[in-house]
Amino acid sequence: MTYGERRRRRNDGKGKYIALLLPLCLLLIFAIGLIVKQKDKEQSDLQNPPQSTQTSDVHTEPLQTSTTQSVGEPAETHTVPASTTPIEPPTDGNGVAANAESGHIYLRVNHEKQVELPLDFGAASEYSISDDNVAYVAQDGMLMGLQKGSCTLTVKGSGKTLEIPVTVREMVIEDGCTYVDGILVANKTYSLPREYDPGLLPVTEEAFKKLVADAKAQGLHIENSSDYRTYDFQKECYDSIVNGYSKEYADSISARPGHSEHQTGYTIDCNSIDNTFAETAEGKWLAKNCWKYGFIIRYPADKVDLTGYAYESWHIRYVGVEHAKEIMEQGICLEEYLDIDSAYQD
Ligand SMILES: [Zn+2]
Repeated sequence: MTYGERRRRRNDGKGKYIALLLPLCLLLIFAIGLIVKQKDKEQSDLQNPPQSTQTSDVHTEPLQTSTTQSVGEPAETHTVPASTTPIEPPTDGNGVAANAESGHIYLRVNHEKQVELPLDFGAASEYSISDDNVAYVAQDGMLMGLQKGSCTLTVKGSGKTLEIPVTVREMVIEDGCTYVDGILVANKTYSLPREYDPGLLPVTEEAFKKLVADAKAQGLHIENSSDYRTYDFQKECYDSIVNGYSKEYADSISARPGHSEHQTGYTIDCNSIDNTFAETAEGKWLAKNCWKYGFIIRYPADKVDLTGYAYESWHIRYVGVEHAKEIMEQGICLEEYLDIDSAYQD
């Protein structure tokens, strides 16, 4: 006799059968309930997987990592330390000079320049500086920037005295962008990161609108022919020239990605984008008046060696009225004004 047969016999009779069936049914209903509940849970886990399993990971590991990064990153905004700031080598035996004849010397913190005196001044007998916290001058005329600021250099010699204003500038690198006294720099030495993508900046657009309106009142037509370029667009342009011709040729007519001033958001090319523009009434008016709106002619004809670019009469750069006035009045380029160089490292 099997276990089943024995049980059936023991449970013979209707009352006993029902009494047994009832708890079995209850058990079955309970079991079905459990299965349905489990299915629902699986379904909801599938729909919201990260909430139940990954939340704790997201809130512990990655957050700790990003906190560590931001704590470790104040170096992102920093003044270039003295030890790594290159001192530009002199280009001739006497050193590149601070051009005393232009009436102003610009140099950066930890940079030095040999003061060059006007030919008719004769020999200097004494050099002195009005604020020796800002700059230091040696008695051989070597001038060095110590901290951001302005002071006056006095040179005495054979009955004559020369007073030369000196501005010492500070370079700051922030999010991969280089600023010298707040002016964003993009040239062959200093590049912009790919992420720097501001579009044409409103300050540039507004200043240009005023310029165009005032030119129009003089009967002149100045138009925006090209302005903002992204890093990627510049890369496309540059690479296509490299691939079609050569790197040398590309460097002579186009900026490498990150090095184009058009990526700053402060630059506009006017009218014909060639130097026939310089000979037009518009080109002449622009060269004379652009500073009033905060623009400079960025690549002047007589500064090719310093800017690293051929003359571009059509390319203007916004730097603000105060800086633009000084740059254009002094007849210098941005590289001289900020005491920076412009040359690719390779
Ligand atoms: Zn341009």
